Amino acid sequence: MEMMPVKIVLLGPPGAGKGTQAKSISNRYSIPHISTGDIFRKNISEETPLGIQAKQYIDNGQLVPDEVTINTVKDRLTWEDCKNGYLLDGFPRTVAQAEALQEFLVSRNENLDTALCIEVPSSFILERMTGRRVCGSCGASYHVKFNPTKVEGTCDVCGEHEFFQREDDKPETVKRRLDVNIAQGEPIIAHYREL
Ligand code: AMP
Repeated sequence: MEMMPVKIVLLGPPGAGKGTQAKSISNRYSIPHISTGDIFRKNISEETPLGIQAKQYIDNGQLVPDEVTINTVKDRLTWEDCKNGYLLDGFPRTVAQAEALQEFLVSRNENLDTALCIEVPSSFILERMTGRRVCGSCGASYHVKFNPTKVEGTCDVCGEHEFFQREDDKPETVKRRLDVNIAQGEPIIAHYREL
């Protein structure tokens, strides 16, 4: 079935479940799921110049600088697979990023279809994030309490047994990430309300 191109941004605090929702939305519309966090993590594991630069910020719970992030996303959005639209997860995270995205779209005579915000109270987020575990082999994401593997210690997706906690999911870092999100998140929601 031919689908209309659909361009979505998914907003919400870290730990709200954006990644999980993003996967099902991108399957539903056959559009790529573009997560800036995933792009940075891939570059970190491959030790690319972008990864080396991003790592120092990410491990501290800080945002990667706008210029770096914006250029990374703009580059990604020109790939062939974005012709049918895309879902952005974790971008924009600052008003400058939202404005840069808007300028990029306008320059291509395109527009966004939807900005979707997932709201979760901060009190739930700490438990959600500090309980997250990631498969060291395929990157599948679980939660020790809310979304455990079917067989304990075995990844549902690839069957491997090594899991790790993201450095930025440790409690102190999560608190910092939530503070950053409160400061930066509200103006972005206001920006999209206006649009
Ligand atoms: P995430 O997996 O979306 O929670 O992102 C993990 C980390 O990557 C964040 O805590 C930031 O340090 C960095 N990051 C991801 N997206 C952005 C963005 N749009 N702007 C700046 N930093 C970002």
